[in-house]
Amino acid sequence: MVYLKYLDLFKAGYKVRYALISDVHANLAALQAVIEEIEHQDCGRVICLGDVVGYGPRPQRCLDITRTLTDHIILGNHDVAIFNTPEELSFNPIARNAIVWTRSQLSESNISYLQQLPYTITFDRCLGVHASPCSPQSWDYITGRFDALRNFNCFSQPVSFAGHTHSPVVFQRRAGKHKVRVLETDHLKIEQGFQYIINIGSVGQPRDRDPRAAFGIWDSEQLVYELVRVDYDISLTQSQMQKAGLPRFLSDRLEHGV
Ligand code: ZN
Repeated sequence: MVYLKYLDLFKAGYKVRYALISDVHANLAALQAVIEEIEHQDCGRVICLGDVVGYGPRPQRCLDITRTLTDHIILGNHDVAIFNTPEELSFNPIARNAIVWTRSQLSESNISYLQQLPYTITFDRCLGVHASPCSPQSWDYITGRFDALRNFNCFSQPVSFAGHTHSPVVFQRRAGKHKVRVLETDHLKIEQGFQYIINIGSVGQPRDRDPRAAFGIWDSEQLVYELVRVDYDISLTQSQMQKAGLPRFLSDRLEHGV
């Protein structure tokens, strides 16, 4: 039970290296590989930007483990769909099918737990959202510079972290200006006078054509962000999904990272 340690470290509160995880999507093998890497990377605090469940084969276990890792979990659209029927109905049939199955796998106490989670989190002068700073409850996607520009006007912190698209990316703008740059980098030193929107990618269902699990490390003392990729046993997750009767499309996409 290696992850108990993080809870202790969090309570001690002396670390400034955050592990930022998002979109675990009930992929237990990916989550376990990421936790091992978090330990190697000596991160003292874990923050989860939502969508712990949905799509994948081990929702109950992934939520139990994530709750043990951290008290700082925010809601994603798949988490909300577990307890909110209108949200579920806005999904495509494949995602909806997975939500109905996921709900049947979760304990009452885990469903109640999801219901009381917040939509945003602030920490060390950063904002964390699942989807977007402007409308964290309406699940907009930030896919390009125009989306990013609109969202830069909705937060005052130097950095906002997000998940939701499952594709890591960094947007940068000089504070108060309109020009947004897309930075193609996995390692970033935050510059004074700039604002950043950083998408940390997905642990359990990457869609940037790199099938490895993704998560971010934020060193709030050094002001350095790093994107980390981790190999995991994709075929194990795929076989768990097939046994659970989840849609074939959802398991096939994992090996292509799409
Ligand atoms: Zn997601």
